[in-house]
Amino acid sequence: MEIVAPRGTFDVMPDDAGLWQFVEGLVRQTFEKCGYREIRTPVFEHTELFERGVGAATDIVEKEMYTFKDRGGRLITLRPEGTAPAVRAFVEHGLAGRSLPAKLYYIGPMFRYERPQAGRYRQFHQFGMEVVGAASPEADAEVIATPLAIFGAMGIQDVVVNLNSIGCPACKPAYRQRLREAYAPVLGRLCESCRARYDRNPLRLLDCKSDECRAALPEPPTIFGQLCPECGAHFDGLRRLLDKLGVEYVINPRLVRGLDYYTKTTFEYNVGGIGSQDAIGGGGRYDGLVEECGGAPTPAVGVACGLERCVLAARANASDEQYQAGLDVFIVSMGDAARERAFELAHEMRCAGLAADFDMVGRGLKAQMRYAGKMRARFVAILGDEELAAGQATIKDMSTGEQTRISQGELATCIGAGSAVNGE
Ligand SMILES: [Zn+2]
Ligand SMILES: [Zn+2]
Repeated sequence: MEIVAPRGTFDVMPDDAGLWQFVEGLVRQTFEKCGYREIRTPVFEHTELFERGVGAATDIVEKEMYTFKDRGGRLITLRPEGTAPAVRAFVEHGLAGRSLPAKLYYIGPMFRYERPQAGRYRQFHQFGMEVVGAASPEADAEVIATPLAIFGAMGIQDVVVNLNSIGCPACKPAYRQRLREAYAPVLGRLCESCRARYDRNPLRLLDCKSDECRAALPEPPTIFGQLCPECGAHFDGLRRLLDKLGVEYVINPRLVRGLDYYTKTTFEYNVGGIGSQDAIGGGGRYDGLVEECGGAPTPAVGVACGLERCVLAARANASDEQYQAGLDVFIVSMGDAARERAFELAHEMRCAGLAADFDMVGRGLKAQMRYAGKMRARFVAILGDEELAAGQATIKDMSTGEQTRISQGELATCIGAGSAVNGE
């Protein structure tokens, strides 16, 4: 029986790989331009990391994690997100002892057991950045603004930043109390987990994915009258910085992260206007997370975005030339002796730094030319009987159709020079 890829996963096939590399390259460039450096953490971690770092009472941890016992009896989870692993590594490698902030970025696959639907996968990809060790609103503003440049470059239009503050341990308790009062009248209509969360942490009710709960919950009161002076000043500072950059945002009091170590700023990128469900990324400040993961109290803020959404946009908006690599030269050969020489020549071209390929299955001339076109070869070098005998090759410029006979020794120079002429 044929074995297919597991439900909720997909293959990136060679025709698409260039597009992925293009998007990933742009992400790296953009982040590195802002002084972020890549961190690569394992795809699996101890389950406890996510229970602590994402929160035991979240949908991710309760329902969506790929968790299993390994052969040594350890409880292991495929990472559902990138922040907790980055913070774990920050603590484990003592980055707190180096100059702060640590500006980290990551890009890679994440895993969540969700019901697959359009655009939602069980293995999906995220890119994200974390600033660990900076409390100033400049950190929040940079983290919010940087992915916008990536969305823009991919041609994703009308991205709106939804912005909120959820306060800090000093001012959150009073807000929680106000939320409880606002929700008390609808409590009977809410799902079991919402009712369980009502006492412990009513902010979590806004995270509930149940349609009935979403419909039943009244618009939450805003926190802004209740922020402590420090949180208020932080939020005002952040808004001022976003205004300076011309970043458009709307204040959305529904946007919460209900866990204790999330503080102050929360945000989400939505496409297609306010209240749209189509979030393509988001993040916030998590001043308590480093401590939760065993480090000293350290302020931090981060963002994570979906790579699939960017690839989709790039497919629609980027031109082939931006992401299709292509060969410098394809060597067409007629006959066994010529094929052997083509093999040798391809090796020489590769040693000279050119992208070169040749026919290894003895196709006919026409088929080889078609293949060269498909591989986006800039030049084709043809080795027929005559050329072979004379130590020459007929070289064809695929963009102009121009053909010349040259000695095989000049091939690399000729093609290299050709690329210079083409302005590459
Ligand atoms: Zn506060
Ligand atoms: Zn609910």
